[in-house]
Amino acid sequence: MSEFSNFGFAEQLLSAVVSEGYENPTPIQQKSIPPLLEGRDLIGIAQTGTGKTAAFILPMLDKMAKQPRPPGAKRCRMLVLAPTRELASQIAVNARAYGRNMRLRTTVVVGGMKPRPQIKALAQGVDIVVATPGRLEDHLAAGAVSLDHTEVVVLDEADQMFDLGFLPAIRRLMSNLPKKRQTVMFSATMPRQIIELAQEFLQNPVQVAAGPTSKPIEKIEQRAIAVPFHEKSEKLANLLIDEKVERSIVFTRTKHGADRVCRKLEAAGFAAAAIHGDKTQVQRVRALSAFRDGRMPILVATDIAARGIHIENVSHVINFDVPVTPEAYVHRIGRTARAGKEGIAITFYDPAEVALMQDIERLISVSLLPEGVRGVPSGKSPKRTKFQKAKSGQSPRRPSSHRARQKGDKEQARGPNSRSPNGRPANERSRGRRPKNSRSK
Ligand code: AMP
Repeated sequence: MSEFSNFGFAEQLLSAVVSEGYENPTPIQQKSIPPLLEGRDLIGIAQTGTGKTAAFILPMLDKMAKQPRPPGAKRCRMLVLAPTRELASQIAVNARAYGRNMRLRTTVVVGGMKPRPQIKALAQGVDIVVATPGRLEDHLAAGAVSLDHTEVVVLDEADQMFDLGFLPAIRRLMSNLPKKRQTVMFSATMPRQIIELAQEFLQNPVQVAAGPTSKPIEKIEQRAIAVPFHEKSEKLANLLIDEKVERSIVFTRTKHGADRVCRKLEAAGFAAAAIHGDKTQVQRVRALSAFRDGRMPILVATDIAARGIHIENVSHVINFDVPVTPEAYVHRIGRTARAGKEGIAITFYDPAEVALMQDIERLISVSLLPEGVRGVPSGKSPKRTKFQKAKSGQSPRRPSSHRARQKGDKEQARGPNSRSPNGRPANERSRGRRPKNSRSK
């Protein structure tokens, strides 16, 4: 289906899509919309930036246009679960835009906001609820919402919800939904746990996949620079000046790290804001909008706060810390080179982070480290923290949703030393060379 008109959408929906300026459906929309219109369950592998929100919202809006019915007090017709407040808000903004010619109620139910207005909105009944799992569970427990008449549930960014420890909450929420329903799951990656999740909740799903329309990996100039931990702040400040960075997201592994980097940048005269799970919703919204509209050129973020967010014109992504999972690297650098633009991703790695860099090289099949650099000390991986072990499936304990929400991006232990690798000079390397032992694509 290469045109929106071929989907047979209701007139008011089609005109909203035109008002959005969308000319043709994106690949993920072409693949997802027809089976979703048929009422099929669906599992989609797609990242933010592919147009996946419209892919799951438009079919349900079409149903609402053709089969209008009041949702009923405390009920919702469609439930979208998202891992972060920012993503939930972004989905709701899109849903309202696509439903602009229809009389629909869309409500965002997320933590960090006063519960009372959410309870009031839910009491009337809403067509679409976009929620983070924790707060929705609170409302469910308090009897403020009922999911027993919900027709469609979407689990968006399922892999991140899993990473954040939301799985138990999702299981509990799903047990409150009717058996006869449509279930849709989108995930940027498809690890074993996500496949299991799909088998548990989806019935005979159609599977679709689409790469990001902006093909970030190919368009991004990737560089890795060896910088000992204690020199990273100074290096960052110099780099921001030398590179004439216009709009940059600096990723740190921890919330404390983000605050610390932000303070150091401010002390060095840069305008920067930090965004992470410990910030209030007001602070998060303020920081994001200042970054979006260009008042604040530098955003310092943890993975949890920044994934899934679509911001135009990010010229640089700087990994102040190497992420603990290689998938997170792909998500981080995907914040630049969006909408067909070029972008630069620079990663600072301490010698103790070399093993993590090698994991990334294996995943993306691109060499980032200078030839001959091996894990330090003497080729050994840096000691893995409890969190890293849990991620690689070595830990018997999974973080509970509460603990994960509290500690999801807590300070990670640092490696044993911070020498420069093998005494080599500043190790910068751009994309292009395949690492030895890399996976073939
Ligand atoms: P998403 O992956 O849902 O976050 O969408 C990323 C961006 O793509 C958003 O800014 C959407 O407004 C935009 N978008 C979605 N569908 C289309 C389309 N068919 N044509 C052009 N832009 C689109």
